Amino acid sequence: MKDQSKNRQKLFSSLPAVDKLLRHPSIRDLCENQPERYVHHCTRMVIEEIRRRITDGTINDVDTIPGMDEIVPRIEHLVMEGLSNKLMRVINGAGVILHTGLGRAPLAPSAQAALSEAATRYCILATERVSGKRGDRNRHTEEMLRELTGAEASLIVNNNSAAVLLSLNSFGEGREAIVSRGELVEIGGAFRVPDVMERSGSIMVEVGTTNKTHLRDYEAAITENSAYILKVHTSNYRIEGFHQEVSVKDLSELAHKHNLLLLMDIGSGALVDLQKWGLTYEPTVPEAVADGADVVTFSGDKLLGGPQCGVIVGKKELIDKMKRNPLNRAIRCDKLILSALNGTLKLFLDPDGLPDTHPLYAMITAPLDTVNRRARRIARRIKDAAGDRFEVKVIDGVAEMGSGALPARPIQSRLVTVSSEDLTTDQLALVLRLSVPPLFTRIEDDKVIIDARTVADDEVRLIGEIFRTVTSDRLTEAMQNNQALSLKKKGKVSGKSDLPALG
Ligand SMILES: *Cc1c(COP(=O)(O)O)cnc(C)c1O
Repeated sequence: MKDQSKNRQKLFSSLPAVDKLLRHPSIRDLCENQPERYVHHCTRMVIEEIRRRITDGTINDVDTIPGMDEIVPRIEHLVMEGLSNKLMRVINGAGVILHTGLGRAPLAPSAQAALSEAATRYCILATERVSGKRGDRNRHTEEMLRELTGAEASLIVNNNSAAVLLSLNSFGEGREAIVSRGELVEIGGAFRVPDVMERSGSIMVEVGTTNKTHLRDYEAAITENSAYILKVHTSNYRIEGFHQEVSVKDLSELAHKHNLLLLMDIGSGALVDLQKWGLTYEPTVPEAVADGADVVTFSGDKLLGGPQCGVIVGKKELIDKMKRNPLNRAIRCDKLILSALNGTLKLFLDPDGLPDTHPLYAMITAPLDTVNRRARRIARRIKDAAGDRFEVKVIDGVAEMGSGALPARPIQSRLVTVSSEDLTTDQLALVLRLSVPPLFTRIEDDKVIIDARTVADDEVRLIGEIFRTVTSDRLTEAMQNNQALSLKKKGKVSGKSDLPALG
């Protein structure tokens, strides 16, 4: 034990001092051109990382302590990485169309334009032009949503989870809320219908069973203290077989007969019937409104393909009540979101044009033939770039909608499979994610898959370039020696590091 701690002391004392590093010509240069304070921070980080490795025993020999020739480039790399655009664009080859981890839908050009104008200038957000007085920030999308959904009024908040919370809280605090056991779903992360109902202050009254709920079940649960019936579109799973749920129409008649509200969380928020493009039916917002739902909540970044937000539409007096709820202030949207939403919504006024105007609809409606041609172009680019280092094939497969929309209804696609003798599947997927821009793939049957449905046409050439770089990349080389993400090539320093590898 004593020897060990003595050795450690010796290793610590042979590390270069931070002061000395800061006087190194390359680091001094770096300080000239980059924020000095951040260069100092990164220098300390690199030294601390090496100290950690000494403490945990991965470095136990003077020879394995990184020298200046290694430490200095690492600091430079860390500084440049840290100052780069952190939310960098990526190529989605994973075939998940609304990939929450990759930011869900890419925005349409009209949304980008609106966003950019609002972002770079002052904008009319919450001011009336005629009176010059304060106005309602929700008014910009009001007319369009009225036209698109048939609802009297609307309100935009941070996301659909917030929309549900606000509506339940506004109408059911301290009162009973009736919901079917078949609709007590978990949407992902911390959003579970029973938990949200509890947080909203409503008293949840469950009716029916997991697979079947009848109108009479709802009716039997109504008491003097009932405030509303909640209907949830179970957007991320599907019950096949012996199954029954009550329609929006029947529920709204029942609710209104007893002076209750019908609130509907429709989730994915289809504004148009997807069957027109041969896709699976999803309940639409205009149908729910027409069938008598008093308030309908949905996501702005699912089938709308807009920015992250929650859209609430419904009767004017109910929307006004929600606007007065103090929670509304806490979850309202800023000018960036509202302008991007505005630029997205107007595309739905011409649904037939969506495949041309909206990247999400271009992606989901592209004929298999088009996807196939794109897959073949991707395969050819990879072969041209990487010669015979990879085995590349184009096969049939399926993309998925993601974000709990169109569950279990895959969309036909064509996939490029890539495998290599030199790298394991996980290693190849990793180097592709670490490339610039990162390429995200999925793994199936121990092969890296690039799904051509989620790749844009102008990204095909980039994929070729990524494979060209990967092939000549030091990182790939390091991986072949099984030393990925290590500081030293010798292999004594290995394992996990929270610092980026030298690339
Ligand atoms: C996705 C979803 C939510 C959550 O919406 P976010 O916009 O992701 O917060 C809530 N309810 C349903 C039915 C959903 O599908």
